[in-house]
Amino acid sequence: TRQLPSRVPAAAAKAGSAHTNGHVNGHTNGAVVEHQSRSSGEASTSGRDQGMSVELNDVVFGYRPGRPVLKGVSLKVEPGQSCAIVGSSGSGKSTLLRLLVRLYDCQSGNIQLDGIDVSELQQSSLRRAVAVVPQDTVLFADTILRNIRYGRPDATFEEIEKAAEMAQLKRVIENMPEGYNTVVGERGLKLSGGEKQRVAIARAFLRGPRLLICDEATSALDTATERSIMTSLEELAQGRTSVFVAHRLSTVQRCDKIVVMADGKVVEQGTHEELMKAGHVYYDMWEAQAAAEEFHEQCVPEQLEP
Ligand code: ATP
Repeated sequence: TRQLPSRVPAAAAKAGSAHTNGHVNGHTNGAVVEHQSRSSGEASTSGRDQGMSVELNDVVFGYRPGRPVLKGVSLKVEPGQSCAIVGSSGSGKSTLLRLLVRLYDCQSGNIQLDGIDVSELQQSSLRRAVAVVPQDTVLFADTILRNIRYGRPDATFEEIEKAAEMAQLKRVIENMPEGYNTVVGERGLKLSGGEKQRVAIARAFLRGPRLLICDEATSALDTATERSIMTSLEELAQGRTSVFVAHRLSTVQRCDKIVVMADGKVVEQGTHEELMKAGHVYYDMWEAQAAAEEFHEQCVPEQLEP
């Protein structure tokens, strides 16, 4: 098994731009070596690291025999790029993310991170280099402090505070009865869906991953919460590679690449402008969403009238 460089130093990630053509460090004679300094809380990769490349080649996968969910998916995300995956419900978007973190293996085709087949990577190396912000974040019946520290057990209190601030949790925690020592989760203070997702973002900030994977919550978040979560995620994605499933098109416009899926296949890919110009599936999705929003705006106030 092989290893990946694990973390992008926070300073390098902030300095990086999603559009900079970064240089991936750690390659020596074609092999990837791990550079890491846990004690300092920062990776020892130089500031040139922009995240890892992600490549899917003709990936076929199904949960049950004879029922393929991904039917030959190919796509490439360059180091430092942000990639949004959109498409109809059941088209295989979340499944694709699960394969990226090797919850399942491809049945044919392959997935490469920094040019290495994921099946050859050490699980521990993959776990260190990749952070996932899932749809539903699991909180432990423990303090909010320990729930965030789960992102990196050796993080200092200052690092946790910084991560909470970046994830826009500072105010939320200040308003908790016992601040960072407040017990959350099932038997403690219940957090909203948006707050739980921000805990996942804070954990990811602590990890400083080279690849960020996010499955946007399908549950309805109010517009202000959704916007603040997107701001945190965009900040986190700076100077790293990011792949995320988006259910709301409003969140994908600024991505370097948008991949449109339908029935287990990639049907279109490009930037927002390119896809709008092309006038196919993505364009139709925008039209449908705009019509739905207009309908919603017209209906809701009336429904709320006494
Ligand atoms: P959504 O936008 O609704 O989240 P999606 O595009 O992310 O959908 P997936 O969740 O990847 O789609 O599901 C693709 C197909 O795989 C669906 O038909 C779904 O029912 C099926 N599927 C998903 N997870 C499993 C599982 N664990 N076992 C069996 N079938 C599954």
